[in-house]
Amino acid sequence: VSIEEMFKTQLQAKGLDKEVKVVRTGCFGLCEAGPICIVYPEGSFYSRVELKDVERIVDEHLLKGRIVKDLLFVDKSANVTDIATSINDVTFYKKQKRVVLRNCGVINPEVIEEYIAFDGYKALGKALTEMTPTEVVDVIKKSGLRGRGGGGFPTGLKWEFTQKSQGDIKYVACNADEGDPGAFMDRSVLEGDPHAIIEAMAIAAYAIGAEKGYVYIRAEYPIAVKRLGIAIAQAKEMGLLGQDIFGTGFNFDLEIRLGAGAFVCGEETALIASIEGERGMPRPKPPFPAQKGIFGKPTLINNVETYAVVAQIILNGAEWFTAMGTERSPGTKVFALGGKINNTGLVEIPMGTPLREVIYDIGGGIPNGKAFKAVQTGGPSGGCITADHLDTPIDFDTLTSLGSMMGSGGMIVVDEDNCMVDFARFFLDFTVDESCGKCVPCREGTKRMLEILNKITSGNGTLKDLDTLEELAYAIKDSALCGLGQTAPNPVLSTMKYFRDEYVAHVVDKK
Ligand code: SF4
Repeated sequence: VSIEEMFKTQLQAKGLDKEVKVVRTGCFGLCEAGPICIVYPEGSFYSRVELKDVERIVDEHLLKGRIVKDLLFVDKSANVTDIATSINDVTFYKKQKRVVLRNCGVINPEVIEEYIAFDGYKALGKALTEMTPTEVVDVIKKSGLRGRGGGGFPTGLKWEFTQKSQGDIKYVACNADEGDPGAFMDRSVLEGDPHAIIEAMAIAAYAIGAEKGYVYIRAEYPIAVKRLGIAIAQAKEMGLLGQDIFGTGFNFDLEIRLGAGAFVCGEETALIASIEGERGMPRPKPPFPAQKGIFGKPTLINNVETYAVVAQIILNGAEWFTAMGTERSPGTKVFALGGKINNTGLVEIPMGTPLREVIYDIGGGIPNGKAFKAVQTGGPSGGCITADHLDTPIDFDTLTSLGSMMGSGGMIVVDEDNCMVDFARFFLDFTVDESCGKCVPCREGTKRMLEILNKITSGNGTLKDLDTLEELAYAIKDSALCGLGQTAPNPVLSTMKYFRDEYVAHVVDKK
């Protein structure tokens, strides 16, 4: 019996089933505290709920109006002393700004009417009936939205390039092949708010002149795949996908393509090859997908999080979006906060929020009173940010200037007990496994780097090995064919930059 079923049984037994509605939503972000039940209108945030707790919540809270205090979420942050009785007062949420995640944990993602009740498909209606395709592209350009999948390329420019590309057929695609270790932003959006992606892709298709779209999603996300499938079927049934949408003559259809677990298929040219039914391997760019994408036709590819804000930008205007975040990185960003942190979960913050706020206020600090050492952003393509940079405002450019990168939004925290050489080795091990083998620098070079790291961590390395490691890292960065190889050395280079002493401590000739 699930908690949801238990609630329904209890409500029926107590005669409350007509008054109280049980809604199964997507993830509300605080993974640390799950399973979570929020009781409205109070917004009481019950955490780690077990089957045996359900009857108490129904009896005490719903029948007698008394909040069950011992089931409320307890924030472990050092500076939080009161237990919040409403979700609005939980520190984890107070400093967040939920734009991408606005519907996650709020609506039932399998009921299209709930999405529509929260302004769903209104932006598509506005775009199709009140705006020209060029006006749509202009709003996205003016919003300054940058691709949330890793590179931070201006989304509006991508849309414009694809719109201006000549082609009898064009495609839109959504990259939902989220494969970074520790990242689960896109999964949560697809599980919690799948219609937001469908609506955005339809708007994008209208803007660039496409009639067909593909969502490329990893098969390891079965709930996301299932909910997206349900959402597509519901949208078709309501005439929001298919022929003559809103009676405007605009046609758009959407298909799901499942990835088979290859990390490299998140690279857009490999993703295109995989959608075409070929082996998922990158190819040199140019030509860019905007010129020659799926089946050789102009293709617009954005990732899930990028699409997730499109409808809101169309509805609220570019200025609404630029009012959040920083000048060069407007809007918000979702991060998957994990590792040595009290409040593991999904957090959405305005760009420019200092890292300290994310770690200590939202994240609740480091468990067991340990000292913060570093945070890895950008997964296996990124680098680490140290305690010296805790006051860094997080945006695309500051992270790059520190030798890390935004990446898709994984944020893995390490404390004083973690060895940074081991940490770098973990990521390199991952990229060695995931290298597609097409080009020599990545296929062979990353293996040699891993060999050297293994030699160092087993206590047999020398200072000369450190030099070779660094030299090899730069050579791979400069010569690998695709982003996977070009960024694979980043975790090693950034830990060597900030924690060289730890590398030296491992080698035999320490001077
Ligand atoms: Fe394949 Fe790596 Fe070369 Fe990319 S860099 S094409 S993943 S071998």
